[in-house]
Amino acid sequence: MSDLAKAVAQEVAKRRTFAIISHPDAGKTTITEKVLLHGQKLQKAGTVKGKKSGQHAKSDWMEMEKERGISVTTSVMQFPYHEQLVNLLDTPGHEDFSEDTYRTLTAVDSCLMVIDAAKGVEDRTIKLMEVTRLRDTPILTFMNKLDRDIRDPLDLLDEVEDVLKIMCAPVSWPIGSGKEFKGVYHLLRDETILYKSGQGHRIQEMDVIKGLDNPELDERLGYYADELRDQIDLVKGASNEFDLEMFLAGELTPVFFGTALGNFGVDHMLDGLIEWAPTPLSRETDTGSAVEASNPDFSGFVFKIQANMDPRHRDRVAFMRIVSGKYEKGMKMKHVRIGKEVRIADALTFLAGDREHVEEAYPGDIIGLHNHGTIQIGDTFTSGESFKFSGIPNFAPEMFRRIRLRDPLKQKQLLKGLVQLSEEGAVQVFRPLVSNDLIVGAVGVLQFDVVVHRLKSEYNVDAIYENIQVATARWVYSDDAKKLDDFRRKTEHNLALDGGDNLTYIAPTMANLGLTQERYPDIKFDHTREH
Ligand code: GDP
Repeated sequence: MSDLAKAVAQEVAKRRTFAIISHPDAGKTTITEKVLLHGQKLQKAGTVKGKKSGQHAKSDWMEMEKERGISVTTSVMQFPYHEQLVNLLDTPGHEDFSEDTYRTLTAVDSCLMVIDAAKGVEDRTIKLMEVTRLRDTPILTFMNKLDRDIRDPLDLLDEVEDVLKIMCAPVSWPIGSGKEFKGVYHLLRDETILYKSGQGHRIQEMDVIKGLDNPELDERLGYYADELRDQIDLVKGASNEFDLEMFLAGELTPVFFGTALGNFGVDHMLDGLIEWAPTPLSRETDTGSAVEASNPDFSGFVFKIQANMDPRHRDRVAFMRIVSGKYEKGMKMKHVRIGKEVRIADALTFLAGDREHVEEAYPGDIIGLHNHGTIQIGDTFTSGESFKFSGIPNFAPEMFRRIRLRDPLKQKQLLKGLVQLSEEGAVQVFRPLVSNDLIVGAVGVLQFDVVVHRLKSEYNVDAIYENIQVATARWVYSDDAKKLDDFRRKTEHNLALDGGDNLTYIAPTMANLGLTQERYPDIKFDHTREH
């Protein structure tokens, strides 16, 4: 093995790249904060975000987020945990950003599902789990807010199994909840870990009692000791044991109980992540074979573009997941879609939200490339080969508005802003072939607000929306150039170019789309476009 191959293999073994999925308010931000505390990247938890105190997550970049207290962007945080290096990708919590979330989930190798144990499985969690099922991503589960009165833990597990169709293997088990929350019993370590309230801001010295028969348990827990013994008997009989293979296949989830706010149990989850979650996985390509992380030749794909992350820099950053090999500062790589070799001298890494220049990075890491308009979502970079990573789609928008300027002199600025925002995948823009209209398409209604807000703050244009009769859009292709030409001439009034100059059919009604598809059987109408 070459030295490079050895170094890559070693670094791959260290890394875990994951994202948190949850329903808004389940505690994703608080867990992120505690995870970073364990990673010793924040001196004191509580500095990430306080919706009420007016402080904001390091991961919350934009004004919109401050105003609404929601996380619009995806951010990336890297931190060490024991001997390992963890990459945590933040996903937007609001349902209107599902496309963004989908693409972020293509860049991770496992997910943590956070559930509010007082509420159980909520809609947003169901949707996000559907997305993770597409790639059978391994899932860890954290039942949060044990310092409140929660639902019966066995019922919670049943609900996860029934609704989310994934088997549960409890790894820790709660003792009481709310004011009576005493701690958890760790089934695999055979240890009871006692909870102390009011310690959430720091890494605690844990009070651990080994063994269930230990008389100390009775001394410390009184009545709860026997109850715990009975419960653990029941739980062992009624639930699944942890099974690594089934976890890796996405069929079974280890379940942890705790309180993010009290910083209790988060470390058990992190220990599980380090021990069981996959090291950086291979990714499929258009050649039909996958690229393994251990391959020493560099490769990666862009899953996210973010404009103007830092208002002082007014830049755009393309987030690349490294799939194989090693990134070194100043290296040359091939930008496959445009067939050019580029030198990357100043990639960014995201150490707990601080942007720092990296000297080197490895599979599973996310690096940020400064983008001057040439990089698009889905782009592949290699050390010279011409394959393309697959599976990073754009979805056809479902809502449309015409966008118009208050000041018509700024048309150029408007177009520039819209094209850049569409490169990011924040929204899609369509320019009809036969008019000067600009049509904005979105997957959810909040995206429209985000776009107007960002056009104003980042491009200094005042835009307003008008309603427009559009039901859906489809990307159109044909292998037969003549037939495509004919189609183009006859349906010109319904055709537009998207932000990447791809031909799209803009259907005023679903019936119209159906009829057009019947009339032109040689034309393909695609609901998703692979970048
Ligand atoms: P997100 O919307 O999923 O990011 O949720 P946050 O982390 O912002 O949490 C939502 C609310 O729940 C905040 O007021 C948190 O302080 C609170 N919260 C989070 N974790 C816990 C917990 O373990 N116990 C209690 N009591 N509250 C919590």
